[in-house]
Amino acid sequence: MPNGPGPDAFGTFDFLNKPNTPLYYHAAPRFATFLAQRIPAALHFRLGALRLNSYGPTTMTVPLARTLQAGLALLYPEVCQLCGEQRAAPAEGFVCVHCWSQVRFIKPPFCARCGVPVAGEINTAFECTNCRDLELHFCSARSAVTARGVVLEAVHRYKYSRALWFEPFLVDLFLRAALPALREETWDLVVPVPLHPLKEREREFNQAERFAAPLARALALPLNPQLLRRVQPTRTQTLLTKAQRAANVRRAFARRADRRLQGERVILVDDVFTTGATTSACARVLRAAGAGEVCVWTVARGL
Ligand SMILES: [Zn+2]
Ligand SMILES: [Zn+2]
Repeated sequence: MPNGPGPDAFGTFDFLNKPNTPLYYHAAPRFATFLAQRIPAALHFRLGALRLNSYGPTTMTVPLARTLQAGLALLYPEVCQLCGEQRAAPAEGFVCVHCWSQVRFIKPPFCARCGVPVAGEINTAFECTNCRDLELHFCSARSAVTARGVVLEAVHRYKYSRALWFEPFLVDLFLRAALPALREETWDLVVPVPLHPLKEREREFNQAERFAAPLARALALPLNPQLLRRVQPTRTQTLLTKAQRAANVRRAFARRADRRLQGERVILVDDVFTTGATTSACARVLRAAGAGEVCVWTVARGL
């Protein structure tokens, strides 16, 4: 089998997997990308729920789901969408074992407040110099993994190029780290960082809400994506300094006038934590709305 993946490597593609037709494996991911970027996100998520249903219930009957899955398999060949070489299943977010092994989970020691990991042996709780200078409105921030390499690529393509098939991969990373930690504590409510309505209309989904929903489900907590709203379409933060970021988002969020909290302990969810400016601005509004405590969980952390 010199020209392409063999039938053992692609067990589900036996009928297509003729040794002299490897072209499909190179063309199809591109076609899928092209197509996925043109169908509405809502439809994609609905189709995805049929295949990528490890976190979402499906009401489909089994034979119908199987038929649809076979059809979708034509569009989404089970090839890793990061390296394009190894096999990777939809439930894995199309990320192969090799690419997965490059993910770096954040481990202690880290700052008790912002969660920034530090080198060396520290056994007592400490706050980093950064946090001592800032007025942060959350009690703690934690992230599952570092925003580098394969994670950064998956997050960027998921958000900006509608590579929605990476979602199970990112959700998996998130829940692996967040669930054990959060299950040891008592929390009442999960709230995603909102997007501005214009941006959400353009992107067709709020990535923070996509990560907050499976977390809320797994913890059996209510999810409230309506509590906060983004009232200013903020400039993209990527090129700003820390002070500029804080100023940029200070008045960007508000709570809905008719919503009030009564001391609830809130888990605030976002995709990437960078300086904490965005999440701190949200936490400030949540505290003012009556939240007892706010902790932050994000999938990835820029370092
Ligand atoms: Zn790979
Ligand atoms: Zn810190």
